[in-house]
Amino acid sequence: MEKNDFANWPTWLPLRAALKSSTPYGAPQLPNVIHLNTNENPNPLPESVRDSIMDAVAGVAANLNRYPDRDALSLRAALAGYINAKSETFFEAENIWAANGSNEILQTLFLAFGGTGRTAIGFTPSYSVHPMIANITGTSWIVGSRDSEFAIDADGAAAGIREVKPSLVFLTTPNNPSGTATSIVDIETIARAAGDVRALLVVDEAYAEFSDEESAVSLIKRHPHVVVSRTMSKAFAFAGVRLGYLVANPAVINAMLVTRLPYHLSALTQAAAQVAIANADLLQAGLDEIKVERERVSAALKLAGYKPMPSAANFILFTGFKPESKELWQAILDRGVLIRDVGLPGYLRVTIGTPAENDEFLAAIHSLES
Ligand SMILES: *Cc1c(COP(=O)(O)O)cnc(C)c1O
Repeated sequence: MEKNDFANWPTWLPLRAALKSSTPYGAPQLPNVIHLNTNENPNPLPESVRDSIMDAVAGVAANLNRYPDRDALSLRAALAGYINAKSETFFEAENIWAANGSNEILQTLFLAFGGTGRTAIGFTPSYSVHPMIANITGTSWIVGSRDSEFAIDADGAAAGIREVKPSLVFLTTPNNPSGTATSIVDIETIARAAGDVRALLVVDEAYAEFSDEESAVSLIKRHPHVVVSRTMSKAFAFAGVRLGYLVANPAVINAMLVTRLPYHLSALTQAAAQVAIANADLLQAGLDEIKVERERVSAALKLAGYKPMPSAANFILFTGFKPESKELWQAILDRGVLIRDVGLPGYLRVTIGTPAENDEFLAAIHSLES
């Protein structure tokens, strides 16, 4: 079998049938190009934060012969404090779960609440990892729809949920790849339907800090089946550390404790993440500039004849071009800028980078005009 051959599995390999047509998640990681394809925060960590991380890591290094705090209690308390400060809520460590990226959070949710004979529903186009983990865990995946502007019709979605009766409902807001935000009123309409059929509503808020909409964490008290997934990969400029977290009723967290792997979150990760939370304001100081740049890039795309979708996140989905997505993606890559073909015909997604990176992207766009 060839390296990277995911089509011709050998007959001696007892791979589960559901995985035989699967391929690995694979956003390209290419050298010597500007990366505007994975929605990272383009700003490197301030030196003072880097120094504090080094100190914190040095502090735990002497004890690396021991397993880490299995329940990451002080980290979870710090995350609760961060959410409470942002959303005027009163969560404690028992309302928070933390893992290696929100992707691991999502996997742990599927392990606890999905699986064979169970169904999950999502509103597409949305985050491709939700159906990917559904497939890996043997959970049936039902596709709910968005309209031509990528908004969710909340009443229609609620009717669909009542009909399908899933165990898990996924709602990404702001949505990836479209940037569309769902209002708190619409989220609550969907939450009520999920509650009526005893489903969990998982609100994936990976881009919450870029949006002006109210966070769904405010619904958890009234609707204990609402769980909110967040990450430090985007707004916190901390993608390399891998830290995602969940805000939920303690019963949901207890289910996470049952399905997590023992000692899943390393002492190094826990130490680094606590420094990041303590320095949230410094790490997020660049968010306003990213939002301003988002509107600048959007306006420039419009002027160049494209149609950018309104975005409440740190990326823009755009359409209105003639060649196929793949051709335009390649032409922009040939000019040194890597953006994302999200598999949506006629659309491409560009992450907002530094002003200089955005200028390079726009220069590539302009060089294509004839
Ligand atoms: C980037 C992203 C995540 C994954 O974040 P990690 O914490 O890096 O695993 C989750 N959900 C959505 C919608 C994302 O775009």
